[in-house]
Amino acid sequence: MAEYSVFSLIREGLSGHKGWIRAWRDPEPKKSYDVIIIGGGGHGLATAYYLARNHGITNVAVVEKGWIGGGNVGRNTTIVRSNYMLDGNAHFYEHSLKLWEGLSRDLNYNVMFSQRGVLNLGHCDGQMDAFARRGNLMRLNGIDAELLDREGVRKLYPHLDYSKDARWPIYGGLLQARGGTARHDAVAWGFARGADRRGVDILQNCEVTGFERDGDRITGVKTSRGTIGCGRVGMAVAGNTSRVAAMLGLKLPIESHVLQAFVSEPLKPLIDGVVTYGAGHFYISQSDKGGLVLGGDIDFHNSYAQRGNLPVVENVMANGLAMMPYLSRVRILRSWGGIMDMSMDGSPIISKTPVDNLYLNAGWCYGGFKATPGSGYAFAHTIAHDAPHETNREMGLERFETGYLLDEGGKGPTPKLH
Ligand SMILES: Cc1cc2nc3c(=O)[nH]c(=O)nc-3n(C[C@H](O)[C@H](O)[C@H](O)COP(=O)(O)OP(=O)(O)OC[C@H]3O[C@@H](n4cnc5c(N)ncnc54)[C@H](O)[C@@H]3O)c2cc1C
Repeated sequence: MAEYSVFSLIREGLSGHKGWIRAWRDPEPKKSYDVIIIGGGGHGLATAYYLARNHGITNVAVVEKGWIGGGNVGRNTTIVRSNYMLDGNAHFYEHSLKLWEGLSRDLNYNVMFSQRGVLNLGHCDGQMDAFARRGNLMRLNGIDAELLDREGVRKLYPHLDYSKDARWPIYGGLLQARGGTARHDAVAWGFARGADRRGVDILQNCEVTGFERDGDRITGVKTSRGTIGCGRVGMAVAGNTSRVAAMLGLKLPIESHVLQAFVSEPLKPLIDGVVTYGAGHFYISQSDKGGLVLGGDIDFHNSYAQRGNLPVVENVMANGLAMMPYLSRVRILRSWGGIMDMSMDGSPIISKTPVDNLYLNAGWCYGGFKATPGSGYAFAHTIAHDAPHETNREMGLERFETGYLLDEGGKGPTPKLH
């Protein structure tokens, strides 16, 4: 059964569920492909999907060293938003949010996108001024934003610490009501299925180990399943970007750091949307199963290990308790880490590279999940046309040469602060 619908569900339910077909095939690698996408994370799979859907390029392989969904796309805290200020980011992320709004229907796969709102808390006048500026710029760009005072926040989240002796009193917040969460695995699986149905080969357990070159062009990708010829290559390996680029002698403005996340025991409904703490780095939401999903800062040292360290665990919990003291009695069930591709200005890179037929998708820092559809859309366009889409025009690699950076956080070349 290829198409998912209530009718196919009823039909299969009545006939013993024997008609379902695999959501994607497990093919052997062909000798060569028009396009090879390295990395079967959200961005790689979305790129393959939009290459086929928007540009009719179907002789495509997604080459993944492990299993799809094993990287950051299956490890994140699933927050989706477009509350950016700079034009170069704002239009890109808003386009991505619009794609999210129709994604389940487009993919014929329920990605459980839930627009439950993302609220950033403000704790002093200066921060509220900055939120007003950001909110105004968002609205001027046609993006929804609402500045809430303390009482407005209290109506949405009555359980926060509103006491007089709160460590950081709540002054108000900036709400993006269209933001929310989605089911991360379903996003990987939905894009994989959508790409596969259009003829894309998804090659799992297929690690890229090197490249064959003819001058400035890549002619083949060496993998653990043999060498595969290629027309063009798109690299979307997130935390492993610097490692794969090094195979081509490229040094990129990317550092890898671990980001950890945590899930609590399941609780009754407590937190409707996503809330972020403005006096420290902490964010929290509640999953459909009831677990609180929370996270904070990256581990400050560089690492390629998919696990985190205790000082950040302590820091995240301390920030959480300062924002919501009642969390002290909640038990944390699980924690894990993913490797973040931190760029030097905190914004992503979707770009051509100094290698003729190599294209780069990287620099997602800790915010690439929400970008998944928009990134795939723009990267597919960039590969198909050898030129950026209007949404990623300011995300070129050359900005690190020209100095025309997309420094959304105003933090300069300090990835650990982004
Ligand atoms: C704990 C945590 C919380 C996060 N929370 C959020 C959030 O709330 N909202 C948000 O927007 N973003 C969030 N992010 C960030 C987001 O998950 C990432 O930016 C995004 O998933 C990165 O893109 P991807 O999905 O393509 O990466 P990945 O899923 O990591 O895909 C890259 C793939 O490349 C493969 N690969 C690497 N090297 C090779 C090789 N040599 N050969 C073949 N394949 C290779 C890897 O195995 C991996 O599957 C979070 C990340 C983490 C870790």
